[in-house]
Amino acid sequence: MFSIDEEGRLAALREYAIMDTPPEAAFDRIVALAADLFDAPIAAMTLIDSDRQWMKSIVGLDGNETPREHAFCRYTILGDEVLVVPDAEQDDRFRDNPLVLEDPNIRFYAGAPLRLRSGHRLGALCVIDRTPRAPLSEVEKRRLQTLANVVVNEMDLRLMAERYAMATRRAEAATEAKSEFLANMTHELRTPLTSVIGFNALLAASPDLPEREKGMALKAKTASEKLLTIVNDVLDLAKLEAGAAEVGGEPIDVGPVVRSAVELFTERAAEKGLALHLHVADVLPRAAVDPARLRQVLVNLIGNAVKFTAKGEIAVSASVSGGEIQLAVRDTGVGIPEQNLGRVFERFEQGGAAISREFGGTGLGLAISERLARQMGGEITVESKVGHGSTFTVILPAA
Ligand code: ADP
Repeated sequence: MFSIDEEGRLAALREYAIMDTPPEAAFDRIVALAADLFDAPIAAMTLIDSDRQWMKSIVGLDGNETPREHAFCRYTILGDEVLVVPDAEQDDRFRDNPLVLEDPNIRFYAGAPLRLRSGHRLGALCVIDRTPRAPLSEVEKRRLQTLANVVVNEMDLRLMAERYAMATRRAEAATEAKSEFLANMTHELRTPLTSVIGFNALLAASPDLPEREKGMALKAKTASEKLLTIVNDVLDLAKLEAGAAEVGGEPIDVGPVVRSAVELFTERAAEKGLALHLHVADVLPRAAVDPARLRQVLVNLIGNAVKFTAKGEIAVSASVSGGEIQLAVRDTGVGIPEQNLGRVFERFEQGGAAISREFGGTGLGLAISERLARQMGGEITVESKVGHGSTFTVILPAA
């Protein structure tokens, strides 16, 4: 019966995952156009399954399925030509067909195969009448085939959209799983770590302990505190990547937030002999951000500036430019080599082993800050020159 690769054909049909799906406007429009163009009371987009014919779209008839052996379209998919049956009663193939003998009493049929690029024909776009008709002209056949080709294009688009959606869903699920794992793990690490820090602090403060052991307990405390910082940063980053961090809020004045972040470093800057300047513009728009998160970003940037500057000054400013709020942290420190500038916002990115040993840190601060800024609807830019200093600028949209 089949001169075709039926197995491959059915596999192709499965791949489109279109059988028994709800109606879709794209296909309904084409089928309606075919009915209109050929002035036919019935038109359909059919797909031939192993033992049934299923209509993705149909006009002029109720029901959307027939046994395969009753389907006119089962003949259409045997070739690449438009199949025309001018009068089914005169045709041996269809004379005894229940669809001819009974409702809907098909007489005229014209169907163009839905042919894939691979050559598989999955079904047909057909127009049907209850009275016999003259055969289609070549032009009419071409028109019907063109419409059938449009149907196949739509099926391809649908398949690609489906694949894309699936890939996106998979990627999202993977990110979520990873973030959840990180969040859980860091949480599990935090609790014991906190008691390590606490007991080392107790040990270090114990009057009965010899000086040498006290020093060791103190070192252990410092080391575990550093570890806790890393664990907290990783947790923070995981939350940000999972989109679970709350960064927005009611519009606030950013001036006081900038001021409080700067004040935190007054002492440390003075210890290092650095001047610490702050300039806040008289008039600033408000920003719809969580003040604690904005402060976290600024503390990070100012902390880095103080950390990486041996002499000179740190200048922090809040101004408005082009309707955007600009919070700049400028230092006269070591600067960042041009080849590293693009990478400073990446996780665990540090300016070389020597620098991180010298200055300490986790290499997560900027990654977190940059994500926070982005989730606030803004960004962080950086300009730097080795030996001269760096400027990190937080740009925030005005609320
Ligand atoms: P950390 O400071 O914990 O190492 P960050 O993510 O905050 O991590 O910074 C990443 C790297 O970017 C730093 O290790 C440093 O090399 C470089 N960097 C950041 N801020 C400055 C700055 N103000 N001046 C010079 N280098 C900086």
